Amino acid sequence: MVLPICDVCLKSGILCPGCEKKLKNGEVTLTELSIAKIIFKLGDGKLDFKRIIDGGEETIIITEKNQVGQLIGKGGKIVRAISKEIGKKIRVVGEGSDLKSVSSDLIAPARISGINIVYGRDGQERYKIRVRREDAHRLPGKPEQLNALIKLLTGEETIIVLDDQ
Ligand SMILES: [Zn+2]
Repeated sequence: MVLPICDVCLKSGILCPGCEKKLKNGEVTLTELSIAKIIFKLGDGKLDFKRIIDGGEETIIITEKNQVGQLIGKGGKIVRAISKEIGKKIRVVGEGSDLKSVSSDLIAPARISGINIVYGRDGQERYKIRVRREDAHRLPGKPEQLNALIKLLTGEETIIVLDDQ
């Protein structure tokens, strides 16, 4: 259990001096605190997350690869509760997942039609992520934002483009 706030605080809803200090120091944000409380309650104290990324219109929860489904909850129950509480869309991404699964998680409900390596004029390797053209309106954010998030999560440079076919 590695939620940023201790179990006692999560159970009582009142912050102990230690956790209060973390919040004051900025070690834990209010958003993280709210998310931790909901996850603790709805996940019966069994779920946790690694970190929270503010992705503009969306808040991204990074968790263990094998916990993504549980954190989303049955029929999206947990994600919906978090979204309601913090007033933003929520996306859950597995930590250490490969480029393909991170990208798929991040651009859903838009679908990827293919990924291939391209080389820039600087010789640098980038991944071109092709999104189905009919899914253009389903992209959850601007391609630049999504590229930046993918970079943050995988360290890879990507270019999201609409497929020509
Ligand atoms: Zn505490």
